[in-house]
Amino acid sequence: MPQLGFGVWQVPDDDAASAVGTALEAGYRSIDTAAVYDNEKGTGQGIAASGIPREELFVTTKLWNSASETWTRDSVFREFDASLARLGLDHIDLYLIHWPRPMRDDYLTIWRAFGELLQSGRTRAVGVSNFKPEHLHRVIEDSGSIPSVNQIELHPRLQQPVPRAFHSDHGIVTEAWSPLGQGGDILAEERIVALAEKHERTPAQIILRWHLQLGNVVIPKSVTPARIRENFDVFGFELADADMASIGALNTDTRLGADPDVAD
Ligand code: NAD
Repeated sequence: MPQLGFGVWQVPDDDAASAVGTALEAGYRSIDTAAVYDNEKGTGQGIAASGIPREELFVTTKLWNSASETWTRDSVFREFDASLARLGLDHIDLYLIHWPRPMRDDYLTIWRAFGELLQSGRTRAVGVSNFKPEHLHRVIEDSGSIPSVNQIELHPRLQQPVPRAFHSDHGIVTEAWSPLGQGGDILAEERIVALAEKHERTPAQIILRWHLQLGNVVIPKSVTPARIRENFDVFGFELADADMASIGALNTDTRLGADPDVAD
C-alpha cells in the first residue's frame, strides 16, 4: 500500500474525475473513496481516463454500514458489487468497514462477509475504519483474522498514541484521515510555521512529512491542482528528531469528527 494517497471526501462526483486525474498525473497511485462520498463514479472515470495500468493503482473504498439496519452476508456482497460497478473496476485493493457503530452490534457479521470477499479475490485486502482498540480486539477474537488497516482520524491535535501502539503490536497499518486537520488552524500553528520556514517547505508539507516519519499512511485531500502537487512533494527532506518532538507536543486529543463509540 502506498504510504501517501489521495482522499476524495467532499469532492462532488462531477469534479472527482478531474481531481483524481490531477492527482494521478502528480504521481499519486493510491485513491481513497467511499460509498457515502457519492463520488465513486467520478473517481472511477478519473482512473479510467488516466490510462495508468490497473496493477499500478491502489484503490480503497468503504462500506457505509449506516446504510442498513441489519447487515447480512448477502447485503454486504450487494453493497460491495454496487461500489465496484460505480467505480467501473473488477476488483479493489482495500475494502473498509466505515464505522464500527457499536450500538448496533453488527460489525462482526460484516467482518465475516469481508473475509469471504477477500477469499473471492475481488478485494485484495480488507480492513476497518474508526475502530477503537476494543472493537479491533473483538474482531480479532471472533474471526481469528486481523484487519490489514485501520483508518482513523489522526493529525497533530489528535495523535492517537494508544491506537497506534495497538496497531503496531498487531501488525495493523495505521492510516490517518484528515491528516492536515481538514486544513484548519493547525496549518497556521506557530511551531508548524517555524518548521516550514526552517525547512523551506509549506506547513502542509511539514505535517505530511511528520506523518510519514511516524509510519502513518496519509490520504490528504484537495481539489486545487497546486495543493494536490504540493502534498505529494514531501519526499525530498527530513524532519530531525527535535522537529518531530516539537510536533509531538501539539497533541490535545481534540477530535474534528465524531467519537466512534457514539457515531451511528
Ligand atoms: P485533510 O486533513 O486532508 O484536509 C483537507 C483540506 O485541507 C482541504 O479541503 C483544504 O481545505 C486543505 N488543504 C489541503 N491541502 C492543503 C495545502 N497544501 N495547503 C493548505 N491547505 C490545504 O482532510 P479530509 O479531507 O477530511 O481527510 C482526507 C481524506 O481522509 C478524505 O478525503 C477521505 O478520503 C478520508 N476521510 C476518511 C474518514 C473516515 O471516516 N474514514 C473521515 C474523513 C476523511
